[in-house]
Amino acid sequence: MVNVYIGLGSNLDQPKDHIRLALEDLKKLPQSQLVLASRLYLSKPVGPQDQDDFINAVALLTTTLEPLALLDKLQAIEQQHQRVRERHWGPRTLDLDILLFGNQVIEQPRLKVPHVQMDQRDFVIGPLLEICPQLVLPNGTPLQHLLQQCPIDGLICVDA
Ligand code: ATP
Ligand code: CA
Ligand code: CA
Repeated sequence: MVNVYIGLGSNLDQPKDHIRLALEDLKKLPQSQLVLASRLYLSKPVGPQDQDDFINAVALLTTTLEPLALLDKLQAIEQQHQRVRERHWGPRTLDLDILLFGNQVIEQPRLKVPHVQMDQRDFVIGPLLEICPQLVLPNGTPLQHLLQQCPIDGLICVDA
């Protein structure tokens, strides 16, 4: 069993509902268990600003799935949420990113872990800190140290 952190994001068609339903979908993944999920957060989009703000969350799973098998399952869930890819970093009903896969560093065409730029994204660091404040990245950097370069003051928790 390995600990895997998944980043969830949505900014189309009732984003909170997509995130809550996606968390239910993650509970049904084979060979896996959903251990923890953060609250929901509101964040500014990465890239094009002519789109709605995002709802984000982070989930901790344990799994015996291989990394690419997990990516396949996550992309299937995105498809179930009618995700359409139009433009890079454009609006989407659901985005599921593998942030961390245990302590593994993966450099494959389809999968790079730790997730690119996760150390520069407040909507990743904030929810991760909520569910795992003592987390240390594969390169030895404690998550808490990232706050110096990436403050999370702009992040708004929107859970009731
Ligand atoms: P970003 O990756 O900057 O957050 P994005 O989430 O909008 O942007 P997508 O269009 O969802 O990007 O994904 C593009 C491709 O990224 C996917 O088809 C997938 O193969 C690849 N990818 C590479 N590393 C990962 C990862 N750690 N988690 C999910 N997808 C990944
Ligand atoms: Ca993403
Ligand atoms: Ca993605």
